[in-house]
Amino acid sequence: MAQKRDYYEVLGVAKTASEEEIKKAYRQIAIKYHPDRNPGDKQAEEKFKEAAEAYNVLHDPQKRQQYDQFGFAGPMGGGGFDGFGGASMNMDDIFSMFGDIFGGHGFSGFSRRGGRQQHRGSDLRLKVRLTLEEINQGVTKKFKVRKDITCSHCHGTGAEGGSGHESCPTCHGSGVITHTTQSIFGMMQTQGVCPTCQGEGQIIKDKCKQCQGTGVVKGEEVVEINIPAGVAEGMVVNVPGKGNAGHHGGVAGDIQVFIEEEDNNTFVRDGNDLIYNLLLDFPTAALGGEVDIPTIEGKTLKVKIDSGTQPGKTMRLRSKGLPAVQGYGSGRGDLVVNISVYVPKTLSRDERKAIEEFKDSDNFKGDRQTKDSIFSRFKNYFS
Ligand SMILES: [Zn+2]
Ligand SMILES: [Zn+2]
Repeated sequence: MAQKRDYYEVLGVAKTASEEEIKKAYRQIAIKYHPDRNPGDKQAEEKFKEAAEAYNVLHDPQKRQQYDQFGFAGPMGGGGFDGFGGASMNMDDIFSMFGDIFGGHGFSGFSRRGGRQQHRGSDLRLKVRLTLEEINQGVTKKFKVRKDITCSHCHGTGAEGGSGHESCPTCHGSGVITHTTQSIFGMMQTQGVCPTCQGEGQIIKDKCKQCQGTGVVKGEEVVEINIPAGVAEGMVVNVPGKGNAGHHGGVAGDIQVFIEEEDNNTFVRDGNDLIYNLLLDFPTAALGGEVDIPTIEGKTLKVKIDSGTQPGKTMRLRSKGLPAVQGYGSGRGDLVVNISVYVPKTLSRDERKAIEEFKDSDNFKGDRQTKDSIFSRFKNYFS
């Protein structure tokens, strides 16, 4: 497959383009390369499809943000921008998605390929709150979804007792009707979806009593959704074909799962890194030793503390953070340990006495320590 062109480049707009500019740019290209103007021109058709794909992503703020962040492999359903394999997209899809851009209510001003329209079910949106532990492992969630399901009485056809269909009397089966209007350019012909059959070209003789001829009824379905490890707040996982059933046996919509993240008591997330704030006791900071650091897996790691460890020091435990979402980078983030040192708030008489003994000792003078550490931090610059 040829190298895909950047979506902004395809539409000839800047990365900062407004929604309006994107729409305008797409409209111009779509009109220029429209198949009706370029019959049989494969190259024009490819350009038309390429622009439609770019527009599909860039006019949707969510998809655009993901494209800006991840490029062509946005985390939609794990397989890139769903339903847009470029060549796999057909003209009817493009028209059903962007009929509106040509203006009017279904009157595209252009004929639809083949006339007849397919009814795709609408998408459903769900929110899911995940703990960091679930994000670390990946998780399967079950949802009871209330949605349009295929009518079992007529198997989605909308016809009672297999009564079948007849050709639409309004459009004579073409699914489109033609309007002729007088304009300053002369007589103009515009075509639009037939209002009687909604573009299907046929009507049902005897409508199903369960679904009133739509082919769908309200129902419930338990849907299992696999959420990959490493997702983050604001990401969307797309589950194709699990949304509302389409009328008259049309394809079902998708379910879009919006990810929310619960706060964690132990860790703060920073991308794929996890931050752990360690409050070190003073003797261990001074003498050195070993501490237990919790991991997101629920285990503990023994970590060596050097003698003379200062508050503010950070340690990076490689690959002990969160995994990258499949296909977007490899490996795991780090576990970053921020160290602060606990100074006792209350002291017994003996403790007080012991500490007072060191008060005038050179090694306990904060001033000197600071100068030393500043010098050691910058000595690389001087050597
Ligand atoms: Zn039915
Ligand atoms: Zn009709």
